[in-house]
Parts: sequence; structure tokens; C-alpha cells
Amino acid sequence: MSDIPYKVYLSEKEIPTQWYNVRADMKNKPAPLVNPGTGEPMKLEELFPVFCEELCRQEFDNENPYIDIPQEIQDFYKMYRPSPLVRAYCLEKALGTPAHIYYKFEGNNTSGSHKLNSAIAQAYYAKKQGLKGVTTETGAGQWGTALSMACAYLGLDCQVYMVKVSYEQKPFRREVMRTYGAKVTPSPSMETNIGRAINEQYPGTTGSLGCAISEAVEAATSQEGYRYVLGSVLNQVLLHQSVIGLEAKAALDKVGVKADMIIGCAGGGSNLGGLISPFVGQMLRGEADYEIIAVEPASCPSLTRGSYVYDFCDTGKVCPLAKMYTLGSGYIPAPNHAGGLRYHGMSPVISQLYDDKLISARSVKQTEVFEAAEMFARVEGILPAPESSHAIRVAIDEALKCKETGEEKNILFGLTGTGYFDMVAYQQYNDGTMSDYVPTDEEIAASLAQCPKF
Ligand SMILES: *Cc1c(COP(=O)(O)O)cnc(C)c1O
Repeated sequence: MSDIPYKVYLSEKEIPTQWYNVRADMKNKPAPLVNPGTGEPMKLEELFPVFCEELCRQEFDNENPYIDIPQEIQDFYKMYRPSPLVRAYCLEKALGTPAHIYYKFEGNNTSGSHKLNSAIAQAYYAKKQGLKGVTTETGAGQWGTALSMACAYLGLDCQVYMVKVSYEQKPFRREVMRTYGAKVTPSPSMETNIGRAINEQYPGTTGSLGCAISEAVEAATSQEGYRYVLGSVLNQVLLHQSVIGLEAKAALDKVGVKADMIIGCAGGGSNLGGLISPFVGQMLRGEADYEIIAVEPASCPSLTRGSYVYDFCDTGKVCPLAKMYTLGSGYIPAPNHAGGLRYHGMSPVISQLYDDKLISARSVKQTEVFEAAEMFARVEGILPAPESSHAIRVAIDEALKCKETGEEKNILFGLTGTGYFDMVAYQQYNDGTMSDYVPTDEEIAASLAQCPKF
């Protein structure tokens, strides 16, 4: 056994005091948001009615590599950070691999995921601007939970539009949010114009993330003192999540390890973007090289099978357009897809890095994902979120390749959260009723045909 401890902890003093903004080092910047009405790039002030002002500035900041983390946010981070970097000795042993596997575990807080890192930042800037509250959407519920925790801490009102199917199927997640004082509304609701229109057009619909986003934006812009916040995709969210990568890199440096390969699951791209940012920064500055892999579900394969075009971010088409790898804003993964990561598009930063071939992508089927999840739970003890398990799958596959070649690669992956609220999905897997769905080329082409033309 090597002398690397099971868990590499940073001290409280070593928690980063600045976020890292990878856009500052990118030669090709992510494409700007575009006003769907005019086709022109959005101006800063045009976003002020929707987002908090400081967050708009962060969204547009392609220049400053480091941005100070306000003291209040640092203090909040101290309640659950630094998160551990774990050497997966037990998994290595079970696989019989010469590879060294490390994971950065973000599930050690009540929301159970990395989303709290950005939730507290967004709630903080809303509070600082003197707002009454924020609105948002949530799919599986992790983001809504994280935001309700952050709002409770700062004394802000929190209104969450939760995709109806999750609202009904995940009552416990809903109750956690209400315990933290959030108002949770199933979407599409009858409370907004867009919700009423969608209900009329598709009676009995169980909703989608894109639809809940439209409702949350309408709720923010129609109430005095409210703004909309989003848990992934946006540049600002990746900025806040850089705390994951900065800590991971500091911990590896502390024990003298250089990662060869970095793996993260990709839904909207925020945990992946946060984890890889400091490492990609080194690549961009010519200081080091890494193999980086984004892992997405085969049923929602935006990077591996989507197009890099301007698209709508929401179903109601009320948000600015973003240039991203997308499957089309009307794309809805098959109903049997239980593994999360269902958003139709990918963060503009991740999309640009992928287009520039700085990172690669792979898609995996959900039964393979749950197989990896169960193996990981049994040997490493942590019951992983289905989303996180996409990264576990590829980390295992890569470690097994090392077994064949004898390579002692250092593999780092992001373990974004725990899966206690996903036991219906685990149940399907355990009962053998889980199936894989992979969309046909025709289905993807039909959905992409709906993207706006530029
Ligand atoms: C939301 C979530 C993800 C996916 O979101 P990204 O923005 O792609 O990071 C992954 N894992 C967990 C546990 C999540 O809650």
C-alpha cells in the first residue's frame, strides 16, 4: 500500500478564497447569449430584470481569472467544506487494477450534492441586492433542495417549480425543501401564463425541466423584488463550482500526485466544469496535460450526438438563446430513463472546450451505470447518486483497461452526490425491470430541426 491516506483533507484555512474563471484563459471564448427577438448578443442590462446584477456581471466576465469569494460565502462553505478527496483503495482492490483511483466527494451535505456550492453564492448576491426572494426550477430536486437551504440560511423567500412527475414520485425531496421553508409548486402549474398554456396544449402532461424553467422565469419577472436563479449550465454556476476543482487540485498537490485522467458526469455541465476548470487552465496555459472525459447518458447524449448551435434554453422560449451542444429544446429523454442528467443542452463553456477538443465525451447506458453504482456502493460504502454513477462507470472502465496494459494511471473522478432519494431507480435495477433506451438518429434529427436558424 502506498503512503497516500484514504482521505486527503485540506485544512479549513486551505479552502480557496477565490473562484477560478477558466474563461479568462480560453482562447476561444464561449459564445455570448443572444436575444431571441433581435438576434443580437444580450447586453448586460437586458439580463438585469431576470438575474441578480452581480451574477450577470459574472456571467459576462471573460477576463478576470480569479474572483474573490465573499467572506459570508466562505463562512457557509466551512459548514460542509472542504470536501474529502478519497483514494479508492477498496475499489482498486476489487478491480485488481494497477491504476490509482481518486474521487472528490461532494455529497456530504443535506442537499446531497455539489449544487450547494452555487446555491449559496446565488442566494448571497440576491440578498446583497436587497431582493425579497428567488425563483427556480428543479427536476429530480437536488438543486431546489440546495437553494432552499441557502435561502433559509440568508432569510430569503424561495419559490421552486418542480417538474410534476418528480413532485409526485419524490415526495420526500419535496418535503425537505418545505422543511427549509421553500414554496414548491408542481410544473406545469396553473399559476403562470406559460404553465396554463402548456397545460392547455398538452393536457395531463407530467412536465419537463425546460417547461419549469419558463414558469420560474415568469414568476421572477412578474413579482416585485424577485429574480430567477439556475443551478447549472450558466457560466456563473461553473465559476462557483470551481471550488471543487481548486480543492481537488490542492489536495492532489499536497500528496504529490498528478492526475492523468479526469472524469465527470455531465448534465448541464456544472460539476464537470467546476472540477476540471483549474486543470483545463493549466492545459490552456501550456503547463500540463490531462485526458478529460465528460460522461453523459446514452438516452440524452447532447455532446456525443447533438449539434453545436444556438438553441432555446427552455420550452417556453422566454430565455436568451445559448450556443451549446444540444438535442433541441423539445427533446425529452425516454420515460424509462431514471439516471438524471436530462437537460437537452450543455453549458456553453463545456461545449466550447469540447469543440476545441480539450475534453472528450462518452455516453453510457443506464443499466451499465447502475451496475457500476452497486459495485461502488458495496466496496466503497457510499451509495452514489445515479448522476454521479455515470462517472463511476467510466472510471471503472478505464481502470480495467489499465489492468490489461499494466499502466499505473492516476484517475480522478467527481462523485457529485448520494442517491438516497433515487431508490425507485435502484429498485428497478434490482428487480431487473430497468431497460436502456437509445434514441434513433431520426428522433434526434427531428428534435434538432426545431432549433432556431441563424
Ligand atoms: C444536478 C446533478 C448533476 C448534474 O448536473 P451538472 O450541472 O451537470 O453537474 C450531477 N450529479 C448530481 C448529484 C446532481 O445533483
